[in-house]
Amino acid sequence: MILAIDIGGTFFRYKFGEIFEVKNTKEIDVLKEILNLIEKYKPSKLGISFAGQVDNGKILSSPNIDIKSIDLKEYIKIPFILENDLNCAAVAESRYWKSKFLVALYSGTGLGAGIIENGKLVRGYMNLAGEIGHIPYKKTDLLCGCGKNDCLEFYASSKIEKIGGSIEEYKEALNKAVGIVASLFNPEIIVLGGGYYLHHKFEIDKKYIPNFDKVEIKTTKLKDASLIGAEFLAKEEL
Ligand SMILES: [Zn+2]
Repeated sequence: MILAIDIGGTFFRYKFGEIFEVKNTKEIDVLKEILNLIEKYKPSKLGISFAGQVDNGKILSSPNIDIKSIDLKEYIKIPFILENDLNCAAVAESRYWKSKFLVALYSGTGLGAGIIENGKLVRGYMNLAGEIGHIPYKKTDLLCGCGKNDCLEFYASSKIEKIGGSIEEYKEALNKAVGIVASLFNPEIIVLGGGYYLHHKFEIDKKYIPNFDKVEIKTTKLKDASLIGAEFLAKEEL
């Protein structure tokens, strides 16, 4: 049986069959918790969704989670897959909307995209495809975790509040992000999600999307997309 774990900046969720539990990420030792769950449930496979940059079982960076950059292969001795949370969410959205050409664009504490092309995740050379939040946009007085001060996510995520921006500026930036992913990937569906967007839902302005594009814009209907996606990935890729 598959154990699925979603490690976010705020919540640590896991699912094992019908068992589902949520913990506060800041109150636990993430690695110890994973190893305890393996010990307790003895799953045959493990799918982990992680809110940070990962590649080939390694955690590369985790701006919001207190865990060192480690190679999980040294600790986890059962077949497992470690994937970025947006990539996991895109897998779940693609199954939910029954589309093989889909982009999940989530605006929460940051802005990120997971891309499904012909049913498969687009991962990129270092598994960093879809980091759309760090496209240069407009200068701010703050420094992003990536080291620059003009990232799109300052405007197109909850960071708009930190820079003192308006909701109109937020909408403009997120519209721009939708236009960018529509142009780059020609998806059938773009699914918008993420806590900040869901609190400030608005109609996307089609003027940002190329005229020839037939993309449909949807709002996510999934509650635990990255957790479900991690479970799908463990089932299908291990
Ligand atoms: Zn950045």
